[in-house]
Amino acid sequence: MAAAIAGVSPAPLRLFFALWPTPAQQDTMAAVASQMQRQCGGRRVATPLLHLTLAFLGETAPERVTELTRLAAAIEFTPFSLTLTRAGVWSRSGIGWLAPADIPAPLQTLVDQLNAALGQAGFPLEHRRFKPHVTVLRKALRVPAAPLAVEMSWPVAGFALLQSTLGRGGPAYRVLAAWPGQP
Ligand code: ATP
Ligand code: MG
Repeated sequence: MAAAIAGVSPAPLRLFFALWPTPAQQDTMAAVASQMQRQCGGRRVATPLLHLTLAFLGETAPERVTELTRLAAAIEFTPFSLTLTRAGVWSRSGIGWLAPADIPAPLQTLVDQLNAALGQAGFPLEHRRFKPHVTVLRKALRVPAAPLAVEMSWPVAGFALLQSTLGRGGPAYRVLAAWPGQP
């Protein structure tokens, strides 16, 4: 991180909490994405970037990262398995996604704890209901003509705090910390 210059605020960091798949799990997701792209057009999200967002913080002062890591460390995390069984396209946003049929209780508990802790610490909260999904396509042109077969079991061992840097070639993400251990 750059050294602070007196009187100048350090640049904010674009942050979010997410579930981060292993490279093998990302490959499985990417295979479904290719199948979707053939039907729906659009641009695939690069395989190493595939993830599931839990809470988006947006532009955050760098000095608040310690607070975020403290509140995340206090969360009681129960490992769970997420079964992705649905694939589709939201026609308004052109986003192609993979999603579970329902939300496992430990996932909902994780998101509820995160939101409660973030709210208490004064971070702005997302008011829309949590809709867990992995974005696999952007700018999709069509919704799938036929349902896509997806049956992917994703054992989730933890969650992570990510920094996103938006660039011309697309975003780059960096894991700042992960709980309960390494993702
Ligand atoms: P790009 O914005 O260049 O298309 P991206 O959306 O992957 O790339 P970010 O905008 O930094 O990168 O978003 C990081 C994660 O947070 C993504 O999963 C994104 O879908 C999610 N996200 C971004 N903005 C919001 C928002 N306003 N509300 C909820 N989630 C968001
Ligand atoms: Mg974005």
